[in-house]
This record gives sequence, C-alpha cells and structure tokens, in this order.
Amino acid sequence: MKKLAMSFGCVVFCLALVIPAMAADYDLVINNGRVMDPETMYDSVANVGIKDGRIAVITKNKIEGKETLDAKGLVVAPGFIDGHQHCIEPYTYRLMLRDGRTTIMDLEIGAHGPKLNEWYKRREGKAPVNFGVAVAHEFARAAVLDGFKDWKYFYTPDALRSRVKQGWSKTRPNLEQGNQILAALDEGLRQGGIGIGSTLGYMREGVSAREVFELQKLSGLYGRSIDMHFRYTPGDDVGEVNGIQEMLANAAALGTPAIAAHFNNPGYNLVHELLVRMREKGYNVWGEIYPYSAGSTALNAVFLEPEVWVKALGNKYEDTIQDVATGEFYTQKTREEMLKKEPTRPVLVYKIPESAVVDWIKMPGVAIGSDGMPLIPDDNLTWDTPYEDFPNTHPRFSGSFAKVLRLARENNIPLMQAVSMTSYNYAKPLGDMGLKAMQVRGRIQKGMVADITIFDPQTVTDNSTYAKGTLPSTGILHALVSGIIVMKDQKPLKGVYPGQPIRFEPVKSRFEPISVENWTKTYYAAPIDFGGGVPGMEQH
Ligand SMILES: [Zn+2]
Repeated sequence: MKKLAMSFGCVVFCLALVIPAMAADYDLVINNGRVMDPETMYDSVANVGIKDGRIAVITKNKIEGKETLDAKGLVVAPGFIDGHQHCIEPYTYRLMLRDGRTTIMDLEIGAHGPKLNEWYKRREGKAPVNFGVAVAHEFARAAVLDGFKDWKYFYTPDALRSRVKQGWSKTRPNLEQGNQILAALDEGLRQGGIGIGSTLGYMREGVSAREVFELQKLSGLYGRSIDMHFRYTPGDDVGEVNGIQEMLANAAALGTPAIAAHFNNPGYNLVHELLVRMREKGYNVWGEIYPYSAGSTALNAVFLEPEVWVKALGNKYEDTIQDVATGEFYTQKTREEMLKKEPTRPVLVYKIPESAVVDWIKMPGVAIGSDGMPLIPDDNLTWDTPYEDFPNTHPRFSGSFAKVLRLARENNIPLMQAVSMTSYNYAKPLGDMGLKAMQVRGRIQKGMVADITIFDPQTVTDNSTYAKGTLPSTGILHALVSGIIVMKDQKPLKGVYPGQPIRFEPVKSRFEPISVENWTKTYYAAPIDFGGGVPGMEQH
C-alpha cells in the first residue's frame, strides 16, 4: 500500500516537473475579455483557450497558452461575416480585417457557374480571411444571351465589361436558351457554389416570373439559397415589398432558402416583418442590410433610366446621383453624355433619409452585408498600397461593420444585437441549409472554429466617408481566423493565410432540362416557352 502511494506520489511529482517543460495547454489564450456569444447569449468576462484552430475552453479560471492576447476592456466576438462583398481580392483583405470581417462572400452577384472551381482555387492558401461565392444568374445570362466570354475575374468585377451589352438585362430567353442558363447555374451548384445569386432588379424586363421560379427550383434541388436583389429595388414602399413577395412566394411554394439582399430601402419595415413571420413558420429565409442611406451601382443600371428613376419614383438626378470618383452630381444631360463614354461608371445613389439607418440596426434577425463594390481601376493595387491611394468607393466597402457597432453604442442598442447582426445572423441560416463551414462559425462556444474579432466597444468606429471610402475602421484591435492571428493591434499581418474556402462539396448534377412535355404532364397548363408565354401570343 505504502509502495503504491509512493509511486503514485512520484507520478504526480514527475508530472508536476514535466508540465512546465511541456507545451502549454493551448496554442493561444485570450485573457480577460468580455466574451459574447449571440447564440447562447453568453456575455461575461472570461478567458478563451484555443487549440488546433478551435475554441477549446471558455473559463473564468487562469489558463496558459503558447501565445497570449490580453483582451481586458475589449469584446471577444465571433469573427464578422459579410455575405455581400463584391471585391474579394488580395488588396481587399486589410480593409476587411480592420473592419473585423473574417469571412467575406459574394452571394448576390457571384461567380460564373463553369468557373466556380477556378474562382476558389485562385484564393486557396492565399487569403487571411475566409471566402465564398454564389453562382451568378446574370453571368449565365450574359454568356448565353450576349455571348460574353471575356472572363478575367470569374465574378462581379467582370460585370464592368459584361454589362456593356444589354441582352443579359433585357432579353427574354426562349426555352433552349433558358435551359442553357439553368445548365450554367447547375454547373456552379454542382461544383459547390453557395446557392444562386440573382441581380433580378437589373434584369426586370428580361427575366420572367417563370424564370425566377425555375431558378429557385434549381437551387432547391440542392437545398441551397437564392440571394436576390429584388425585381423593383431600388423602388418605393410598394415596389420593394412586391419584389420580395415574388421571392418569398416561390420560397414558400418550393420550401427553399432565400436571402433578401440589402432591403434597406423604402418598405423595409414590412419586408422585415415578412421575413420574421416566415422564419417563425419554419422557412429558412433571411435578410441583410448595409448601414448607409445611399447605395452604389453602375450608371447604366435600368432603374436609373429617366422613366423609372425620375418619372416613376419622382427623383431628380441632380439631388440623388453622384459620381464616385469626382463627387459631382449628374443631370439628365451629363448622365447621357457619360453613358456614351463609360456606361458602367460607378455612382452613388441617395435613396432614403439617414435616420432610417438606426431603425435597421434595431431589427432582430437581420444580418449585415456590406455590398462593397469592386475597386476601379485595380491594376496596380496590392497588399501594400496605402489606404488613401485606393480609388474611391462607397464607404460601406470599408466601414459597414464598425459603423453598426458605433451606431449601436450611440443609440443605446444592445451590443449583443449588434454582435449577432455582424456574425451569427448570417452563419445560422447558412448553416441550417447544410453549409458545414457556417455551422461552426459565428459563435463563441467550445468546439467552434476560432474565427474571432476583438474590439473596443467604447471607441470602435468607421472612418470611411462618401468622399474617402477607403479609410480603415478603428477600434477593432485583433482578428483570428481558424485560431491564427491575422491582425494584431490593428495591424493586418502580411503573408499569414489561414482563410478557408466556404463552399459545398462537389456533387453530381441534379438538373433536368425543362421541356414543354414535362410541364404539360405535370401541371396540364404549360407555358410555351421559358419566358412564360402562352399559346396564341407572340413571344416578348
Ligand atoms: Zn444589389
């Protein structure tokens, strides 16, 4: 007995000797921070231990790691998730980190279906943040209806050239073309794209209600979302709401997930209520906003044509349409002149009073999507380009997430609400539709991937403005991706690339081309073509 006790004692003693010499318990510890988890509502000062890229412990006890971050007075939040960033390039990443974003995805325009794998391959092992993309409806249309082939980026920045022709926007496809469009989208879904992105509002004449329905049916075959710029966005409080009702009616009939892109427009309160009520009924539909009263787009967008923008919506160009680069406002005449020279020139579009922005941040369940636009021109932009030297862009590019935190502070909106908007509100519905990477992000819990943003709640602020949209946010001190520090003391670390692809596994095709015979067999009353035409009527 004594001998046994002795040897047990020796084991304890030897271990005690060995432990300090062994590796610390954790790869990294974040001590003394206010740890906030929007799923469990945990909100307490605690220490977080990270091991092998995951959160291994959250505890009040003292813990040690190979590396330590002191987060006293700071908030330890899930890394921010931006589902709507159109510029996912090496020179973008620093500004994303300064704004706390550890995942950026282009779910609204997206990538051309057949190029999806290449889009991911370009970024693998080369990004400090996680990256993802949807499959682009508008590029499938540009390829089929305009013969567009001039791919350089494979996603949104290509739109500067693909949007010069108008077939993608205005042409109703026949059945054969419709099947080709769906086949291109199917290729991207098969390769693992995060649902379909549709800029329907830019194609309101060319895309029939039937086409939208078939898109949602196709993404539904994979259980994935459609992300939509509604048919009448930007519009008034009737058009905006009717636009989302088109998408939601299809989502309800088909039981498929759907994302309301930037519904920060007139009618937003009803759009929000529709989303909340449908979620309560079990539909996986959700919406995002960017916290600015102005939007940004290309000058030749169909909704900026005089019949829509001036006649139907009652706007004046000289009050509402501003050149991003020069800061000058357009008139109908200068707009027409510029359209001849540079049809896709970026403009700011003022469309709602600034006071509405605070409203949006109070709305439960809403996610933040920055809608950051491609920087133009981007020829010589690199990681080292000074922020001030970037070409100007809408300030949402650089400041969306910090602005939400600032507005929450200034308007007494609970910080947990803001933290949920910046992370969990995108992770939760994407995870629910089977996107594994999002089931383990957007939360600060044991076992979750350690994508973490650490900020000072008292000072965090956006600094970008309409005049200078590329100034970095401040007050966001540290960021981790998969447990690796990618920004320390507001300094993004060059050459540290733990960013992961956010995508589905490749699968077999689930698409069957549409035929009139099948339509007739199933529902008796079949359209004669993809545009929804009826027998006896001319095709549009
Ligand atoms: Zn949009």
